[in-house]
Formats: sequence, structure tokens, C-alpha cells
Amino acid sequence: MTDLIRDKLELPAGHNKLLLHSCCAPCSGEVMEAIQASGIEYAIFFYNPNIHPQKEYLLRKEENIRFAEQHNIPFIDADYDTDNWFERARGMEKEPERGIRCTMCFDMRFERTALYAFEHGYTAISSSLGISRWKDMQQINGCGYRAAEPYPGMVYWDYNWRKKGGAARMVEISKRENFYQQEYCGCVYSLRDTNLHRKSQGRPLIKLGVKYYGDEEE
Ligand code: SF4
Repeated sequence: MTDLIRDKLELPAGHNKLLLHSCCAPCSGEVMEAIQASGIEYAIFFYNPNIHPQKEYLLRKEENIRFAEQHNIPFIDADYDTDNWFERARGMEKEPERGIRCTMCFDMRFERTALYAFEHGYTAISSSLGISRWKDMQQINGCGYRAAEPYPGMVYWDYNWRKKGGAARMVEISKRENFYQQEYCGCVYSLRDTNLHRKSQGRPLIKLGVKYYGDEEE
């Protein structure tokens, strides 16, 4: 296991209660353990109406619940309001990953996180989204800042979870926990595009619910 002696993390000055948006168990495993090891009070906010289909959504959510329970971390199971997500994604169906559809998708998830935080006494928000090397950190942070901005006294914590071995520990923890390993970002369009890419390479299409970290490589 990569060195688990991590820096003691601290929320931005004056903040002591964090609402952590989680996209899935593999991305949040290292983030959750790092936050917990630093003694920061936090809860998980699972709001991901982008994930399609529902079978995949439930798989990702159940893995995250299992891990949160194991660590005694409160898990807030927010709406699966897919109609709103599709409404906001209208006209962006053909956009590539890291494009404007993804900005919308991060905005939507952060906005709900910030609202819940404001209504329930959390003064800091963050997300596990940024730990993935497939994501654009700047894009995510921009959405996080925007979401916190309307609420007086609220901050978006832009800690870079990838650094100091975080990205490697994310994979190690996922293997240790035998987490479900999703093979596309989440929305129906990312599923379509990943499958098109696979097809162009003569690879088999994605099968939902079959791949787990730590299992034998195909
Ligand atoms: S590719 Fe990922 S981040 Fe982008 S819109 Fe789809 S689910 Fe959201």
C-alpha cells in the first residue's frame, strides 16, 4: 500500500463542517479516509442524477453506502432527478467529455450540494470528482466556486486530492475494498461515446455490473 502517512488536512480558515459531494465509491474512498484521518467533521452527499441507467446508478450508490457505513460517516442520499438533468443537457448531447455538458453536469451537482449545505449548517463543500485523472481539475473547481458563492460564509474547498500519492491510494483502496469499477463517466452520452470508441478498436462493449477492482484482468 502506498504510504498512508498523509498530511493532516485542514479546511479553509474558520470552517469546521464539510459536506463532501461524492460521485462514486472508488473516487471517494481515498478522499473519505484522508478527511477522516484528519479529524474533520463531514458527511457524504450523494447527488448524481447524471448516472444512467438506473441499474448503474444503484450499483455506484450502494458501493458508496457500504463504504460510508464501514467508516460510520453520515450518508445523505439525495434525489435521482434525471428529468432535470436531461432538461439541462438538452442541446449538448453531442458535446465531448470535459466540454460544456460536463460543466453543466458539475454545476448541477455542486449547486444542490451547496444548497443542502446552506440549509443544514455545513459551511464548506467539496467533491471527490477531482481525484480522477480523466477530469479537468480547473473545470471542476470553477463549478465548485460558483456554487458556493451565493451563500454568505460558505467556501468551496479546492484541495487537490490527486497529489501526494492520493491518486495511487485511490486505486489501492478500490482494490482493497473490491469496489465496483465503472467503465464510463456516468451519463448516457458518455456510455454511448465510450462504446463507440471501443467498437472502433474492436473491443467488446461495456457490460454493466460485472467489473470489480482487484478482480483478474481480462
Ligand atoms: S461525461 Fe460525465 S461529467 Fe460529462 S456530462 Fe456525462 S456524466 Fe457528466
